[in-house]
Amino acid sequence: MRHQSKACCILLAAALALSSCKNGESQAGKGMQQPKKDTVAWAAPQKYAHMRPLVERSLQEVNRLLPDSCKTSEVKVVEGAAPDYAGSWTVFYTPYPSPTIVLGSSFLSDSALAKLVIFHEQSHAFFDFSAPQEAKSRMERLFLQAMGSKKPSASQDIALEKEHPIFPLFDESSYCKGKSPQLGHPYDGASELFASASAVLRFFPSEFLSRLRRLEQEDKSASKTAKEIARAVLEIWKGSNVLSLPELE
Ligand SMILES: [Zn+2]
Repeated sequence: MRHQSKACCILLAAALALSSCKNGESQAGKGMQQPKKDTVAWAAPQKYAHMRPLVERSLQEVNRLLPDSCKTSEVKVVEGAAPDYAGSWTVFYTPYPSPTIVLGSSFLSDSALAKLVIFHEQSHAFFDFSAPQEAKSRMERLFLQAMGSKKPSASQDIALEKEHPIFPLFDESSYCKGKSPQLGHPYDGASELFASASAVLRFFPSEFLSRLRRLEQEDKSASKTAKEIARAVLEIWKGSNVLSLPELE
């Protein structure tokens, strides 16, 4: 994560965690009480207790699709700039040492925003640990196709996104201005593109379709790539009852 304000995914010690997930041996809960598979440990200031049911419901939608060892088993809510984390506008999923979503308290100020960022993070887990390799490779190819030439430097990416024909379509920020300093960053890799695109297609389908139609008038090639990205995302979710958009399938 480069910016405190991003809804982001940091896969801490990802390689180690991935092997743990693949082995089906979760490191979760060693030395502590292991939550049942369908419950989620909740570490948050008491004043956020009323949001727990909503967060748990949001988690379960995707948790049921994940291998047991990768299901989010804990949510930590951080306020302000906690020393271990970047700040209250931060959210990320880490599978290590146990699958956890660390959620800045700012995201709990609004139910729709909380659902959106939880789904974004769970989409990372779904992409990284449940999607077939072939589908991941396809997303990688489409990401590079969208990127066109080369990945921008960190200082350039915000400017690039505003001018880019494709990425803003898949960036949650551009659909909910004013709710958070910045949400998605689909230009940061295939998993980020998948997570942001999933959130956009799920929560803003009509606006996405109308923006795609506008792009068709302005830039045929870019709109073709954008449509392929959306279809690739939908294909990965196919059969999950989580995300579908018949207009594009
Ligand atoms: Zn992310």
